[in-house]
Amino acid sequence: MSQDNLDRLRKQLDSVNLRLLELLSERASIAQDIGMEKEKQGVPKYDPVREKSMLEELVRSNKGPFDDETISHLFKQIFQASLKLQQTDHHKHLLVSRKRQKEDTVVSIGEIPVGSGQPILIAGPCSVESYEQTRKTAAMLKASGVTVMRGGAFKPRTSPYDFQGLGVEGLQILKEVAEEFGLKTISEIVDPAHIELATQYIDVIQIGARNMQNFELLKAAGDVRTPILLKRGLAATIDEFLHSAEYIVSRGNDQVMLIERGIRTYEKATRNTLDISAVPILKLESHLPVLVDVTHSTGRKDILAPCAKAALAAGADGVMVEVHPDPATALSDAAQQLNFAEFERFLKEIQFPLKPGR
Ligand code: PEP
Ligand code: MN
Repeated sequence: MSQDNLDRLRKQLDSVNLRLLELLSERASIAQDIGMEKEKQGVPKYDPVREKSMLEELVRSNKGPFDDETISHLFKQIFQASLKLQQTDHHKHLLVSRKRQKEDTVVSIGEIPVGSGQPILIAGPCSVESYEQTRKTAAMLKASGVTVMRGGAFKPRTSPYDFQGLGVEGLQILKEVAEEFGLKTISEIVDPAHIELATQYIDVIQIGARNMQNFELLKAAGDVRTPILLKRGLAATIDEFLHSAEYIVSRGNDQVMLIERGIRTYEKATRNTLDISAVPILKLESHLPVLVDVTHSTGRKDILAPCAKAALAAGADGVMVEVHPDPATALSDAAQQLNFAEFERFLKEIQFPLKPGR
């Protein structure tokens, strides 16, 4: 083959490449239109039946020189690239995404703003165990200047034989005590049927780590207008976490706060592994407030303060910590709750009242 001949063939190939590119781009923009249409109709992007029939048609029309398997393989790559294009388009438009809304969402717990630059501290017992225990804690929190009290009434426990919480009675205690001391309250709800009821008793509904992907619970939380504190699942990726928040916001409740509470790893020195990098990543990816639960992430009283400081330095909008009048007798998480003296030292170490971070 002469050099001239080779040059000529190469030129032909270059021009076919450009035509192919043009056709691929045309195909991609049609695929995007299909993706948007499917979005409107609420049908899934991936349609295996349609993909199979397109491949069969191509193989039937194949006259070589590529064999059928190669043609199938090449077109599968094209189909996959188109699907990815549709999914990226969709992701760009998540309601909780920073790409969708540039400004920070400020969640209002009554008159207390979360996400406005002034970090908040949420403290209280793991569980509401009695009126007296809750009242003692509330009095101490009030005197310390803490404005939001936590306390579990419905406890998702690993063992069915462990204390399950006082249920609605626990919510009633929280309400009564919070009214007496002028505190805001937060408590976990585990049953979609209790969401509406909970709005009469508490100021923030917590969705626990074990329920981060309880989609019916998320939908119910999206149907009320009470602020929601969504905990990251035990083994949930940041992407899954954001999609769970999307379930709530997409139903019309934009008052959602995210809270990192440690993820499960091989490390045994802490109860979970505090993923501190999740804080700046969530702040970059989403406009929702981001908090850190130092108690459940570490499970260690001796490192709560440095972890809280790390959270605030990383840009967290708040910190959650457990405190109990007599941790030794606590009905849940006895080992990891601070007593009042330890809590006072914790406040000193994190220099409470917290200064604006941003
Ligand atoms: C809690 O905060 O009471 C709790 C059970 O935490 P988590 O869901 O993060 O385990
Ligand atoms: Mn606890």
